[in-house]
Parts: sequence; C-alpha cells; structure tokens
Amino acid sequence: MKILVTGGAGFIGSHLCKRLLAEGNEVICVDNFFTGRIKNIKELKKTDNFLVVKQDITKPLKFSGLDRIYNLACPASPPAYQKDPVFTWKTCVLGMLNVLELAKKNDGCIVLQASTSEVYGDPLQHPQTENYRGNVNPVGIRSCYDEGKRAAETLMMDYHRKYKIPVRIIRIFNTYGPNMDPKDGRVVSNFVVQALTNRNITIYGNGTQTRSFQYIDDLLEGMIKMMENKVNFSGPVNIGNPVEFSVKKLAITVLQMIPKSKSKIVYKNIPDDDPKLRRPDITLAKEKLLWEPTVKLEDGLIPTIAYFKSEVLG
Ligand code: NAD
Ligand code: UDP
Repeated sequence: MKILVTGGAGFIGSHLCKRLLAEGNEVICVDNFFTGRIKNIKELKKTDNFLVVKQDITKPLKFSGLDRIYNLACPASPPAYQKDPVFTWKTCVLGMLNVLELAKKNDGCIVLQASTSEVYGDPLQHPQTENYRGNVNPVGIRSCYDEGKRAAETLMMDYHRKYKIPVRIIRIFNTYGPNMDPKDGRVVSNFVVQALTNRNITIYGNGTQTRSFQYIDDLLEGMIKMMENKVNFSGPVNIGNPVEFSVKKLAITVLQMIPKSKSKIVYKNIPDDDPKLRRPDITLAKEKLLWEPTVKLEDGLIPTIAYFKSEVLG
C-alpha cells in the first residue's frame, strides 16, 4: 500500500514508518521537524520505498494514489505544545482539515487520527471509557492541545458522515520508548535522563497524580489493528495500558532500575490543569480489535533506558 504518515520523524511516527516499511509498504513521511528529529529516520532513509517531505500540515497537502493516512503530526509533550499554543491549535485543527481534504481526493483512502487521553481533560470518571465526554478547561494552558484534538475528532466524524470518508480515531494514553527526544520534557524521558546523569528527579506536585504507561510496541500493534479492522469500526477507541502508576512510583521504579544513580527526588510546583488521575478502560479495544497491551512497565523501561544511555552518555 501507499501510506502517508504525518509526523513521521517524531517518536511514535518513526517507529510506525519503520514497521510499515518492514511490512512492504511504500511510505511517505511528512514532517516540519518542529519536535521531530532527522536521526529518528536516518536509517529508514536508506530504504527504498521511503520518501521524506518537509512540510507543515497546516498548509494544503498534495499527494495521489494514497491508500492510508496516519495523522500523527502534532507536538505531544506539554512543554512542546505550550511553546507556541497557536501553532499547536492550527496543527490540530487546520492540519486535520488538510488531511481530510487530502483523503477526500484519494478515493477509498482510510485516515487514522492519533487522538489522545487528553480529550478527557482532568477526568471525573475513572477509569475513562470512550463515552465519557471529559472535563476540559477550554481556556487553560493545556487547551490548545486538548481542545485542538477534540475539534479534530469532530472534523473526522463530520467528514465521515458528510463525505463517507473511512476514518479511525484512537485515543492514545501516555506512551514511551526509544526515539523519544531526551529533552522533550515528558515524565519518562525526564526521569530516566535525570537518573542517568545524576541530576535531581523532578516530581511536579506531590507525585500522587497517576498515569498509565504504554510501551511503543503495544501502541503500534493497536494502531495498525485499528487501521486495518475489517468491520469498519471508526472508534474512538482507547489505546493504552490499564496498569496505573503514581508519578512517585514511576520515579522510584526508574531509580531502582538505574541503581548506580546518585539522583535525589525533589518536588516542584505542579503545572496548571495537570490531570490528577488517568487510566484507560480498554474493554472496547479488546472486544473490537482483540488487542491488549503485553509489555509491563519494568520490561519496557529496559530498552528505553538503554536508548537514553546511548543518547546522553554516548
Ligand atoms: P512527537 O512530538 O515526538 O512527534 C510529533 C511529530 O509531528 C514531530 O516529528 C513533529 O516535528 C511533527 N509535527 C508537529 N507539528 C507539525 C506540523 N504542523 N506539520 C508537520 N509536522 C508536524 O510526539 P509523539 O509522541 O510521537 O506523538 C505523535 C502523535 O501521537 C501526536 O499527534 C500526539 O498528539 C499523539 N499522542 C501521543 C501520545 C504519547 O504518549 N506519545 C499520547 C497521546 C497522543
Ligand atoms: N511530571 C513530573 N516531572 C517531570 C515531568 C512530568 O512530575 O519532570 C508529571 C506531570 O506533572 C504529569 C505527569 O508527570 O503529572 C505526566 O507528565 P507528561 O508531561 O509526561 O504527560 P501528560 O500526561 O501530563 O501529558
């Protein structure tokens, strides 16, 4: 198949491009390198059937003969998406519009949107099921991303109803693994890099807030199963690991796995609107996609720590 991956030079996108190429597809990676890195796709550039196009998805896209589009372009780390919130909102909404217009011109092309658990905001329902409508602050510092991704889901469903475009929406929960930018500011990259370099481990707030961490391989499996499902299931569907950890437990686990580290835990102010609890209910994914994650946090952290070690210690 001929497959377009927007955001293909980012953390998730680079793994997806690699896997789609290995499966024998022709892959086009569109990226403006806002948070993506050329080193993530350096090896792939040697492969036949891989084309990299430097382009911003907020500008119209022109490609023909496409069978699939994975729309992953968008900064995902809070410091990265808050750096230029207007750009983030444009990427989410205008980018989605351009992707859907492109799909309209490529007859039969299926579009998958990388949505997020952030559409639930600071959730009042726990764990979160797909029919929970969320608790999002529309005017806060996270809104450019949360509301942008919510509007993108709206566009997906409107194009589906109005123009019969086949769509797939996955709501991804916190995912980690190799190819994350060591400086991207997310909790797994921060804690592992801090521990490896003997710097203080920075817990924001008191560390009782929770997240459910999914290893990249599990996400890829769920994402491709959703794209290729044979029952025309559009979603939205949660794709995440339902095992929940407090941020403090994550810090302790990382320190246990890097026993030579001299890092100490310190506590910093918690950012505004930081969700207090997050855990996916994955009943729907199990039922519709026969998918569930298999990698435990301690197992996924082994290759992740090895990757960050080579990135920051050489
Ligand atoms: P990332 O920041 O590593 O990758 C995003 C990629 O998109 C980068 O290569 C960046 O340069 C590119 N990009 C950003 N804006 C663009 C634009 N306007 N035009 C073209 N390219 C642009 O993030 P990631 O973790 O790989 O996330 C990928 C997608 O998955 C994002 O859409 C994100 O919202 C979604 N997601 C990720 C997680 C997670 O835990 N990693 C969770 C929920 C949702
Ligand atoms: N966090 C932290 N220390 C850090 C980075 C993040 O305590 O150095 C916390 C953050 O406040 C949040 C959680 O870890 O409660 C997950 O943050 P991340 O930025 O990875 O993703 P989010 O799920 O908030 O989008």
